[in-house]
Amino acid sequence: MRVVEVPLDDLQKLFDTAVNSMDFGSGFLDHDEVLTLRMFARILDVEPMTATPDNFRKQFPHQYKPQMRTVYDWTVLDHFERAKTKRDEEVCYWCSERIDFEMHR
Ligand SMILES: [Zn+2]
Repeated sequence: MRVVEVPLDDLQKLFDTAVNSMDFGSGFLDHDEVLTLRMFARILDVEPMTATPDNFRKQFPHQYKPQMRTVYDWTVLDHFERAKTKRDEEVCYWCSERIDFEMHR
């Protein structure tokens, strides 16, 4: 394997380009590409979850980061009527799961 030295600023620019690219959130990255992005995140001292596309986030253990989201519940009253109720719940910013999700540390 060939090893090269890259200035940290240049690595940061490359990382930002990758994470902000259209491909990043497209669902087309494969597992190895995500592992590489996460490795660069650690080198750059960035939270690896920022380098993890949504469709991979539930696969990696991570710190629970609370955020509130609004949920609408529909109750069937009769054949023609439904009642909509709104409530807020706390879920993880990274994976949208509740605090007791197995990948939270
Ligand atoms: Zn989470």
